[in-house]
Amino acid sequence: MTTPNLIEIKGLHKSFGKNEVLKGLDIEIKKGEVVVMIGPSGSGKSTFLRTMNLLETPTKGDVYFEGTNIADKATDVFKHREKMGMVFQQFNLFPNLTVLDNLTLAPVNTGKLTKEAAKEVAIALLAKVGLSDKVEAYPQSLSGGQQQRVAIARALAMNPDVMLFDEPTSALDPEMVGDVLSVMKNLAKDGMTMVIVTHEMGFAKEVADRVIFMADGKIVESGEPKALFDNPKEVRTQEFLAQVL
Ligand code: ADP
Ligand code: MG
Repeated sequence: MTTPNLIEIKGLHKSFGKNEVLKGLDIEIKKGEVVVMIGPSGSGKSTFLRTMNLLETPTKGDVYFEGTNIADKATDVFKHREKMGMVFQQFNLFPNLTVLDNLTLAPVNTGKLTKEAAKEVAIALLAKVGLSDKVEAYPQSLSGGQQQRVAIARALAMNPDVMLFDEPTSALDPEMVGDVLSVMKNLAKDGMTMVIVTHEMGFAKEVADRVIFMADGKIVESGEPKALFDNPKEVRTQEFLAQVL
């Protein structure tokens, strides 16, 4: 039996005015798959993640998530977006809330969990990301790496079916990167479906099931990390990898 696709993206286009940023993307993602997206700055990686969870409205194309076309205007996108956790380069924690309250806010406000249940979930997740001692701390008292781990735990608190990461370690001091990547590695090991935009090629090699190289709003090449990194077929991929590896 083949695993069903959790996500199917078909002919996805996104323009901002005359600027066509996504030029027809087709991507299928299976449950439990870890997909890493790489590509030059400005190639549309962030726009892709944001369009995929309908933070941006696609200009054209369909996004099937668990069988429902969430690009269809009739779909309740909020209901589906709750199942897509998102982690940004800038952690975007609520500065006026404690770490615990950052984690419980969405589950409680959406009626998903009671306050008590949300607190229990939050405490377990903070243990998972190695921050049990920071439950009552405020974001500004934490290092960047700790804040990003809180952001990951906060996204997980909604019990998402997929996690989207947009350069989660790019804003961190080098010594913080490892802790965040190791949290992500553990998530992958636990079977979480993940789409990760990153420049961490070592991480991609180790953790990705598939790497997609994107340039100029299109998929240039994709494949298993070993094949793509060691034996890229397209000149564009070769040139990019020569710069970053
Ligand atoms: P990447 O993440 O690969 O660096 P982005 O998706 O951020 O690329 O950007 C791709 C292009 O889309 C850039 O030319 C950028 O200026 C444009 N763009 C992204 N978001 C917006 C927006 N909200 N409004 C207008 N243009 C945008
Ligand atoms: Mg980006």
